[in-house]
Amino acid sequence: MAGKETITYTPATSTHYGDMDEFAQHKPDRAMIIGSGIAGMAAALCLSKAGIEAVIYESRTSSRDSSGSFFGIHPNGRDVLETLDIADSVLAGGIATREFHFSNHKRSLATIPTDIVTIERGAVARGLLAEAVNRDIDIQYNKKLTTVDQNENQVMASFEDGSRAYGAYLIGADGIHSKARRAVFGESPRPYYSGMVRSSAITENVLGIKPTYGTTNMIMGRNAFFSYLVRQDGYINWFSNRFDIQEPLRGEIEAIQQADWKADLLHLYEDDNPIIKAIIAATDVQIQKYPVYDMPLIDNWHKERICLIGDAAHTPSSKAGQGASMALEDAIIIAKCLRDMPDPPQAFATFESLRKPRVEALLRKTRKSTDSRTPRTVVGRFIADLFLPIDLKIANQTTRRMYNYHVNWDELVKTNKH
Ligand SMILES: Cc1cc2nc3c(=O)[nH]c(=O)nc-3n(C[C@H](O)[C@H](O)[C@H](O)COP(=O)(O)OP(=O)(O)OC[C@H]3O[C@@H](n4cnc5c(N)ncnc54)[C@H](O)[C@@H]3O)c2cc1C
Repeated sequence: MAGKETITYTPATSTHYGDMDEFAQHKPDRAMIIGSGIAGMAAALCLSKAGIEAVIYESRTSSRDSSGSFFGIHPNGRDVLETLDIADSVLAGGIATREFHFSNHKRSLATIPTDIVTIERGAVARGLLAEAVNRDIDIQYNKKLTTVDQNENQVMASFEDGSRAYGAYLIGADGIHSKARRAVFGESPRPYYSGMVRSSAITENVLGIKPTYGTTNMIMGRNAFFSYLVRQDGYINWFSNRFDIQEPLRGEIEAIQQADWKADLLHLYEDDNPIIKAIIAATDVQIQKYPVYDMPLIDNWHKERICLIGDAAHTPSSKAGQGASMALEDAIIIAKCLRDMPDPPQAFATFESLRKPRVEALLRKTRKSTDSRTPRTVVGRFIADLFLPIDLKIANQTTRRMYNYHVNWDELVKTNKH
């Protein structure tokens, strides 16, 4: 049973990385997953549903994962949670968002239907963890992957603490700055700064603003974008996208004092709907702030017995909020491939051929349609505002079709269809 034993070995004498003799001494047949984010956790749960035992290695020092603010789970992500029978428990604290209302600094522009559960990242992480504990999945913390090596039968993972682990194959679910990706495919291509810095918070509605009941407001401000929804339980979820900051140094944005950051945001929204400034000024919890990175499409997601999923393979446009839902799709499809294909290399090749066209089509669509940058000139703004309602409606029809995506767990994976 998973979780009862460990297959992490600390080498006693040999420090020779990639020692094939050392491979030969261990014959573990379990899956190794690097990273216990949404992709890694969901993959372990889907593998468990398929009767495959997996061990997760996570660099964080504990199971506590309350980082991040909130994101959206779209119908395609919810579908996977439903297949796992955990949609209700994982999404319990979420808020159903039925429409986006777009406006600029002075008028309403468009209302677009949607079907999203807006929820704290930490709540989803806790829900997945609870189910992993239920299923007795072995999660090892403080295991920061440094290198990987493989032969024709096994994979060896080495960690920063000097320990090693062996498995029949390895799934790299270690996020956008994935070490697994770099270990297998090298440093190029690498994530790049998207030019956008996001701030967000969930703050008490001390202003007494009326709940927005299923509507999320999207305001194309003069200098930056702002989104908010007012919950019925007395809280406001808001985020801001700004584009006026040159690529920051690592940790630079995060280190800025709250008071300074707040003052800066208030200044940015000086000429916009006054509700923005009121919400920011009334925020007395820590405002999360971070530069957003994107990844170019990469040629391959797998090499023999190692395969990438989630942000490690294809960084979502974070602007589209599809990161978690696409990670959930990856998790269920890779588990099906491993369940149905004769060996891991074939499973990973099939996974990649099934997933890549859909993921890349979605990325292309959402990257184009979710640029929340406001043109700098009056004429540019006029033209953008004129076309925005039409652009949004067209983009929305396409993306909603793509988000209404069902993966049939019971259908066998044979060739390029699932
Ligand atoms: C701290 C954090 C906060 C986030 N906040 C938001 C947010 O507010 N809004 C939003 O839309 N998206 C947010 N995201 C991104 C969002 O979670 C992902 O786009 C999506 O859920 C897909 O996740 P993933 O599991 O592929 O990658 P991630 O969520 O990035 O998870 C990767 C996991 O791998 C672990 N890891 C990284 N390197 C190693 C290593 N070398 N060895 C072992 N483990 C490693 C990380 O600790 C993490 O647990 C956040 C991600 C993180 C990590």
